[in-house]
Amino acid sequence: MLSRRSLLSASTALGAASQVAAQSPKNIVISSANGLTCCEVAMAHLERGKDTLDAVIAGVNVNELDPEDNSVGYGGLPNEEGVVELDASVMHGPTRRAGSVGSIRNIKTPSKVARLVMEETKHIMLVGDNALRFAKSYGFKEEDLLTEKSRLAWLVWKRGSSNWNGSMGKPSARLKTLFPEVDDQLLAWAEFKAMYPPTGTINCLALNGKGEMSGTTTTSGLAWKIPGRVGDSPIIGAGLFVDQDTGAAGSTGLGEENIRVCGAHTIVENMRHGMSPKDACLDTLKRIARNYNNNMTELAKFDINFYALRKDGVYAGAALWSGRRSSQGFTSPKFAVNDGGKSRLEECVFLFERK
Ligand code: ASP
Repeated sequence: MLSRRSLLSASTALGAASQVAAQSPKNIVISSANGLTCCEVAMAHLERGKDTLDAVIAGVNVNELDPEDNSVGYGGLPNEEGVVELDASVMHGPTRRAGSVGSIRNIKTPSKVARLVMEETKHIMLVGDNALRFAKSYGFKEEDLLTEKSRLAWLVWKRGSSNWNGSMGKPSARLKTLFPEVDDQLLAWAEFKAMYPPTGTINCLALNGKGEMSGTTTTSGLAWKIPGRVGDSPIIGAGLFVDQDTGAAGSTGLGEENIRVCGAHTIVENMRHGMSPKDACLDTLKRIARNYNNNMTELAKFDINFYALRKDGVYAGAALWSGRRSSQGFTSPKFAVNDGGKSRLEECVFLFERK
């Protein structure tokens, strides 16, 4: 039997949920901070009346095809054997369907393959060689995804790993002799990536004027991973979740931590029970902290970000830490937003301040 208290909180939650539905929807796209152009492209699709899933996929294709984005698709940082392996997922709100691929090699746009899994099969997820074979059967071309820049970072990382004579740390004269044609700035970048195995991904969520929502998450995953490692990005409910009645959420950052709290689904559920997108994300970050009993030394070892877009257009970006580690030092975590015109970066709320 429900107590008075639980009845009250249930009715508050229902009240909040119906408020969500009462607001009128509008075109809006949000993404991780690497998605300024992605959001603009997605918005252009929404403005032309395209489906929300077409919009987000067209948006993230920009990053997947960009050799300078080392966290996604072509040019992504490889696994420990120097092979780029990609993960991606899509969810289409109006039809409540999902598709994903894990650990797929040699295909530049895994988000499109995830969509094909969703549309053409009765399954949700295909992985590895068989995902590649599936993609090829639909005419996708196999291509080498490793760029010279990513190969350089991998070689520098490899020198620092246990079987090789080399050390990571300060830019070494030896590195300069090994890669004489590489400028100092690029070498410093490669050393940074080798020292701090980066994560990086793009998550993009869209809402249109009819209140329809979709999302996608696509990544090359954790750099220098063990071949076959699959992160959170293709896991429906972790790297991405869309509930057409409530809203959508996604994540970037260390996938293992996200999988353990089913982050995107937890956020959407939190919103369904009446939390704002901001609180829904912060609550989920607290669950990650709880997994370490709030041990700050352990938590300081990784970054994780969440993005949430509610069905009424209210959105938030949230990070575990106030400062995100980058080759330029610690920078404040941001996310990209487009509600028409140019995209902008907005600050993420955060759970802990990095001292
Ligand atoms: N979440 C991705 C993964 O763990 C990486 C990232 O977002 O940085 O594979």
